[in-house]
Amino acid sequence: MGNAEIVRLFEEFAVLLELTGANSFRVLANAKVARAAESLTVDLVDLARTDPKALSAIDGIGTSSAAKIVEFVTTGSVKDLEGLRAQVPPGLPALLGLPGVGPKSVRLLWQERGIVDLASLESALDGDRLQGLAGFGPKKIQNLRDGIEFLKTAVGRVRIDQALAVAEAAITHLRAAGVVSRIEPAGSLRRGRETIGDVDLVAVASDGPRAMQAFCTMPGAAKVLVTGPTKSSIRMQDGLQVDLRIVPDEAFGAALLYFTGSKEHNVLLRGRAQQRGLRLNEYGLFTDDGLDAPQDRHPPLASRTEAELYRALGLAWAEPELREMRPLDEVCGHAPLLTVDDIRAELHAHTTESDGAMPLLELVQRAKDRGFHTIAVTDHSRSSVQANGLSIERLLAQIDAVREAELRVGGIRVLAGSEVDILVDGRLDYPDEVLAKLDLVVASPHASLKQAPEVATARLVRAVRHPLVHILGHPTGRLVNGRPGLEPDMHAVIAAARESGVALEINAHPARLDLRDLHARMAIEACVPLAINGDVHGRDGFDVLRFGVQVARRAGAGPDQVINAWDAKRLHAWIASRRGG
Ligand SMILES: [Zn+2]
Ligand SMILES: [Zn+2]
Repeated sequence: MGNAEIVRLFEEFAVLLELTGANSFRVLANAKVARAAESLTVDLVDLARTDPKALSAIDGIGTSSAAKIVEFVTTGSVKDLEGLRAQVPPGLPALLGLPGVGPKSVRLLWQERGIVDLASLESALDGDRLQGLAGFGPKKIQNLRDGIEFLKTAVGRVRIDQALAVAEAAITHLRAAGVVSRIEPAGSLRRGRETIGDVDLVAVASDGPRAMQAFCTMPGAAKVLVTGPTKSSIRMQDGLQVDLRIVPDEAFGAALLYFTGSKEHNVLLRGRAQQRGLRLNEYGLFTDDGLDAPQDRHPPLASRTEAELYRALGLAWAEPELREMRPLDEVCGHAPLLTVDDIRAELHAHTTESDGAMPLLELVQRAKDRGFHTIAVTDHSRSSVQANGLSIERLLAQIDAVREAELRVGGIRVLAGSEVDILVDGRLDYPDEVLAKLDLVVASPHASLKQAPEVATARLVRAVRHPLVHILGHPTGRLVNGRPGLEPDMHAVIAAARESGVALEINAHPARLDLRDLHARMAIEACVPLAINGDVHGRDGFDVLRFGVQVARRAGAGPDQVINAWDAKRLHAWIASRRGG
């Protein structure tokens, strides 16, 4: 405990007082203590323990504030603050994080419209329920919408693999406890976005209270944010929020559809329902009698499954990954998307020769066990010193080892390749006569990832135009939630790839997912083939393929567009064609 905690204590006091409508003098007094504590160099906690009287002598801290500090330091909490917290919905202060929104607005939203957190503000905006609220004109309402988007993307989003691990642990826990008969992740996790705000789970439970109890006490749960018969929210130790909604069995499809989103997709579906004199909500599809809550008066026309709901709207089912800002006729009944099972070849893998964990033979054996018809060995090139990149001599020796491994393991084609560095100016890290000896060349940028966009564009275009390159590996070098990487003109890179017949990689590692979904879609539209590679380093290296596949699915890719999904004959012919064969 230190001064920072004292600052937060009084900031919270000020916020909660303001939200509960306390007089402005008290609000200001607490804000003033927070500011005073912030600028002090003396240790207030220490002072509270050793010389409490001296506290109230500090400029800006009065007697009552000093007493609160002492109470906080000795008991760990302050009774007055607990009282205020009990009055204010726990999700309400988060609204203050919206740009341009102050306590007065938040209090108005709460008191006049029953808004208690960001989610309820969002649904009020969706339902046009802010109309007539003093000071909330069209411009302010638009600002709120933008602000919510900003909050969602700017803070607290975790990588999809991290969110998926939490979701799967929760599902396993609830199933093992025998309290749910059906359970599915919804939200952006189901849509396969690269980062996730919070995890949404939709379930059917025979015993609701027991299910909620099991959920709120699951391993790793740090705090129960809210719990009720149909919805509970918990915060995990790593900060991720998980929401569980329990819905009636007969409304499972409608709830899953509603909570999967995206918001834009749901708006389109509701509009289509409206055109047909129907009403779509989280309970099902109903005849529209002009009143709210049609589920209280009508049996649903459809509600059990998503497919049933789409059908009742005259549509084919839409893959969750496609339910983004796209017209319904583009996503409903889309041609079959790629699945993980379609992937039959890994074209980017490292061994212990560079920075991989598996020796060559083990890598080949595991690829064969996985059912792959082809594995390419692509260790790092000589400039990647930190990754123990191969000298020309070591690379040439590895080609012989690869030929031998193919014979020894049998039943799988083993390609001698390299993940060759794209140097800062777009040249490659080995001379052409060396590259020409390889079966497969993946060219990737690893260094100088902060180049100006036009320099990066020229660099990547030059590499793509190189006649010996097959695949442009992780084209931008970005790391999800880590570094932005190169920001080339992707249209130019894709155009060059199309011209020279190079494939663009979706690196499936969840920290990379590079190409990203939008760029993968651009590549598909330009008829540039995609490669989905695990960039295998460890023994679990193939397990990440699902994430790369999800990016490809979001881009609308089917097996035809992904070279790793081609049969051996077609893939090998394509690879050979890049060698004039
Ligand atoms: Zn790499
Ligand atoms: Zn690699």
